[in-house]
Amino acid sequence: IIEISTLQKSFGSNEVLKNISFEVNKNEVVAVIGASGSGKSTMLRSIVHLEKVDGGSIQIDGQNLVKDGHYPKIKTIKEITAKTGMVFQHFNLFPHLSVKENLEIAPKLVKKTTKEELDKRSRDILQKVGLSDKLHAQPGSLSGGQKQRVAIARALMMDPDILLFDEPTSALDPEVTGEVLKVMRDLAEENMTMIVVTHEMGFAREVADRVVFMDGGEIIESGRPEEFFTNPQHARTKAFLSKNL
Ligand code: ATP
Ligand code: MG
Repeated sequence: IIEISTLQKSFGSNEVLKNISFEVNKNEVVAVIGASGSGKSTMLRSIVHLEKVDGGSIQIDGQNLVKDGHYPKIKTIKEITAKTGMVFQHFNLFPHLSVKENLEIAPKLVKKTTKEELDKRSRDILQKVGLSDKLHAQPGSLSGGQKQRVAIARALMMDPDILLFDEPTSALDPEVTGEVLKVMRDLAEENMTMIVVTHEMGFAREVADRVVFMDGGEIIESGRPEEFFTNPQHARTKAFLSKNL
């Protein structure tokens, strides 16, 4: 469902992505791990077109978001990125809007749906993330874990084919991390296709179908979690795991 090949991206003289290639199949959960500065966020942001790459290709659902460093017209880009949803470390909710308004603002703008349909959809999705009672709450009154669950619900409102998570639990207190991971686990069980950048090794091991390890803008190693964690091949993977497990 996603095909990335020889992706390259620099910020000035800083080569942040060097020849990144990998695929994500439909219904697959891929965990991306790696040290700070290894290019994980830049890669995710490139997939949702929050960054433009300098070279390489990204194909989503058979359509080229970028091919050999060339981008199509904006209408095509929008069509392709509409298939993806992204959840950030810092939630990025609109603080002056209620939970319901946060959920409905994007689909209201782009989809032809009635008020009643939107209302039903936001209630259903909030229930899914365990926040039915927070429909009319303001984000400021929610805990970090609740805010992040709203952010996930908001991404789900657009009915994405692929969900991308950039360290969704890194800004959370340990006691609410579990409730967010549980929602992600439920989505995985419902066969949502996901790429999850995470420091949660337990989640990567138990939920991911594949783990990708990045270092210095490259994919050093990838594999099934049981292989990857018990028998890492590369010295840099071993060094990373010995510090992070
Ligand atoms: P972390 O684990 O800390 O989130 P990361 O693996 O997500 O790290 P990136 O955020 O992708 O790493 O950053 C990779 C490199 O690109 C870093 O050296 C960073 O300083 C640089 N970088 C990222 N965004 C920009 C930007 N907008 N302008 C200039 N340099 C950037
Ligand atoms: Mg990052």
